[in-house]
Amino acid sequence: MLGLEQYREALERCSQCGYCQASCPVFSQELLESYTARGRTLLIKAALMDGILPVGKRTKEIVANCLLCGTCAHTCPGGLPLDEIFMAARNQLRPGGPAASLKRGLHRKLMEQRGHPGAMGKLGPLAKTLGLAPADLPQPAARPFLADQPEVLRPSGAVRARVAWFVGCAANSLHLDTAQAVRKVLLANGVEVVLPQGLACCGLPALAQGEVEMAQDLARRNLAALAAQEVDAVVTECTSCVLMLRDKMGRLFEPESPEAQAAQALAPKVMEAGAFLHQLGLSQTPQECGVSYTLHQPCHAAGFAAQVRQGLSLLEQVPGADYRPMADPAACCGAGGDFFLKNPALSQGVRRSKLEQIEQSRAEVVVTPCPACRHYLSLALGPDKVKHPLALLAGAYE
Ligand code: SF4
Ligand code: SF4
Repeated sequence: MLGLEQYREALERCSQCGYCQASCPVFSQELLESYTARGRTLLIKAALMDGILPVGKRTKEIVANCLLCGTCAHTCPGGLPLDEIFMAARNQLRPGGPAASLKRGLHRKLMEQRGHPGAMGKLGPLAKTLGLAPADLPQPAARPFLADQPEVLRPSGAVRARVAWFVGCAANSLHLDTAQAVRKVLLANGVEVVLPQGLACCGLPALAQGEVEMAQDLARRNLAALAAQEVDAVVTECTSCVLMLRDKMGRLFEPESPEAQAAQALAPKVMEAGAFLHQLGLSQTPQECGVSYTLHQPCHAAGFAAQVRQGLSLLEQVPGADYRPMADPAACCGAGGDFFLKNPALSQGVRRSKLEQIEQSRAEVVVTPCPACRHYLSLALGPDKVKHPLALLAGAYE
C-alpha cells in the first residue's frame, strides 16, 4: 500500500466480469457504472497512473464516493485488493494547502490520543469548521476510559489466560460502555489483561483518508508497544482495529522491512475479543436475560467473519436471550467509517434497506462489534437499541 504503481499488475488482472457491480452498496443507490469497482479502477488507471484522462473534480468525486467497505474485494474472482487500490488513489489525490495541513495535523493528534480530543476539545468550533467534529458525531467522554485504568487488570480468581487489550479509539473516548463491558467479561472469565503503554489509533481512519504516511507512523508506534508483550493474544473489541492490526498493517511497509516482519509475527495473535472468549470458553455462567437480538455484521469484517460469529455465539449461552437473524447480516449499513457525514443522502439510502431487515427480524436489540456501524444505526434506531455483543453478555453478569 505504498503507491498506485505497485497495483498495476493486479489492475491488469481485472477481467471486466462485473461481479463487483452486484455487491456494491454505492452502485445499488446510484446505478452508475463509474461507481462500481470496475469503473473506479478503469478511471484510476487512466487518470492517475497512465495520464490518459485529466484529473478533474469528477475524478476526485468518484474516488471519494466509496464506502471502502471492501465488499467488492471479497467478491472479486480475480482477488484484486480493491479497497487498497482505492486508498492508494486517495493518497495520490490528497489535498494540499494550509487548511488541509491544519486538518491533517489535528487528525494526527486525535489519533495519537486514541480518539480523545483532550485539550483540543477547546478547539471545538474550529474542528467543526474543518469537518473534524460534525454535529452527527457523539460527544467524547469527559475522561477517556484508559485514563482510569491500571497497566494490568487482574481477575479475582485463577488466571486462565493473559492478553494485551488494544482498546479502540471509540471505546476509549466515545462508547465507554463497550470498554466497561469488555473489561467485565474478560475479568469474569479469568483473563489477565495488559493495557500496553504507548499505543495510538490503529490507523485505519488515516488510511481511509489516503494518509498512508500517517498510518505508517501509527503502525510503528503500535508495533513497538505490542511486540514486547508476552501474551496469549492481542484482543480488541473493534473490528476496524482487527482489520488493521491483522490484515493491513504489514502491507503498509516494504515486504522485507523490519516493520512488515514484525506485523506478520503479530497478525496471528490478533483476535476480536468475543472470539477470544469463545475459544477460551466461559468459566462464569451468564444469568437469565430475556432479550431478543439480531446481528449486524460489519462489511469490513468479511475476511474474519468467523471471528464475529464466534463472538455472537457467546450469546447463545445466555439463558433467555433469543437470536433473531436478519435476512443478510453482512449487508452494509451505509456508515463506512465517517463516509455518512460527507454523503448523507447516499448513506441513508443504503441504511434504509438495513433498517427494513432489522424491523423484519423483530429483535429488540441490534448487536454489532463495529463502533461506526453502531453509531450510524443508533442515529436511526435510538441509543439503547444498538450495542456491542459483549455488552449484552456483560448485562447477563450483573
Ligand atoms: S469483480 Fe474484479 S475482475 Fe470482475 S470486473 Fe470487478 S474488479 Fe474486475
Ligand atoms: S469498497 Fe464498497 S463502496 Fe467501494 S466500490 Fe467496493 S463495494 Fe463499492
